Amino acid sequence: MFAKFETLANMRAAMAENGLDPVSVVIERMHSATMADINGRRTILAGTNNYLGLTFHPQCLQAAQQALMTEGSGTTGSRMANGNYAAHMALEQELADFYGVSSAIVFSTGYQANLALLSVLAGAEDAVLLDADCHASIYDGCKLGNAEIVRFRHNDPASLEKRLQRLAERGVKTLIVTEGIYSMLGDRSPLKEIVELKKKYGAYLMIDEAHSMGVLGENGRGLAEEAGVEDDVDFIVGTFSKSLGSIGGFCVSRWPELENVRAAMRPYIFTASPSPSAIATTRATLKLLRDGAELREQLWKNAHQLYQGLEDLGYNLGPVVSPVIPVILQESRQVVIEFWRKLLDRGVYVNLVLPPASPGDYCLLRCSISAAHSSAQIADMVNAFASLSNQGFVQARTG
Ligand code: PMP
Repeated sequence: MFAKFETLANMRAAMAENGLDPVSVVIERMHSATMADINGRRTILAGTNNYLGLTFHPQCLQAAQQALMTEGSGTTGSRMANGNYAAHMALEQELADFYGVSSAIVFSTGYQANLALLSVLAGAEDAVLLDADCHASIYDGCKLGNAEIVRFRHNDPASLEKRLQRLAERGVKTLIVTEGIYSMLGDRSPLKEIVELKKKYGAYLMIDEAHSMGVLGENGRGLAEEAGVEDDVDFIVGTFSKSLGSIGGFCVSRWPELENVRAAMRPYIFTASPSPSAIATTRATLKLLRDGAELREQLWKNAHQLYQGLEDLGYNLGPVVSPVIPVILQESRQVVIEFWRKLLDRGVYVNLVLPPASPGDYCLLRCSISAAHSSAQIADMVNAFASLSNQGFVQARTG
């Protein structure tokens, strides 16, 4: 049984050759939302999804502590058995209110929210149309279900329409799935055009706002809010593990019938519910996110500072300014791994993304920015990249 994992193990061993294994970095000690000890060195965290920097906010910590003391460390059961606490129900109501919709369901992670919904919403006679760059949890959810899976080219409405047309000719009902901000390149769905197509062909539309909740829209509701199309989106999926600084996931819908789906979803039924402290944290951060116009302003200011700094150095970046800022490198894996390691030696931790995890045949050093980063920390990140390109360590501009 283990033989088939040898190639993977050898790849990991080769990556770790010079010491640190890039896929098993240990955060030895946290100092704040943006600083930690890694490899015994004080390091700037420039590869988290802590967009609003709320993980150490006193209101969150207090809410979590209180829930821990009054409700215990875990629920020890699923939502459908002994794990459905009043706080889970209250959070569902708060999420429905936040989005101004009738229905919400809370899951144990965002991954499970996608597994749960995509495994059952579209049935054997239906089709799911996926943007090719959708997250693994969306693909995995589809694999658990019985619907026909059709991919369209990333952010390409023409490619989507061609497929919608063909499916309409066969009388197949369709669910379109896209994301708000894409987690690797930081780009956004052309949501207005997709909504036009959804209406034209009578499809349903689901959007995963994992990386855009708290980041886009006047009230932080995400890309659908920013694009002014919330009334035309059927399902919004999200996570508590990014802007909300906790763990868990959710789906909200303007369809009251979402409630009928709850008892059909195995990743909802057969897993323990989120712990009281995770729920309490999320309820506290949801309020901070909702009232977080200043945090969002700071986040975007920081994103512009980092993007500009790296662009001035000549690096090839993602197509738009976003809190996800990938440095795109066409060099060999070994060169990029070495580059990543040197950044860490200089006290900057970013995400190393190698094919096939990156959307193309290139490697990424995925930087992500938080409202909690200081201007000096961002300058340090840029300086770390500058010192490496000055050394001629990589050919920075890759075209
Ligand atoms: N959807 C997207 C687009 C994501 O990027 C992620 C996490 N990286 C998830 C869903 C899963 O979220 P969670 O961490 O809550 O499982």
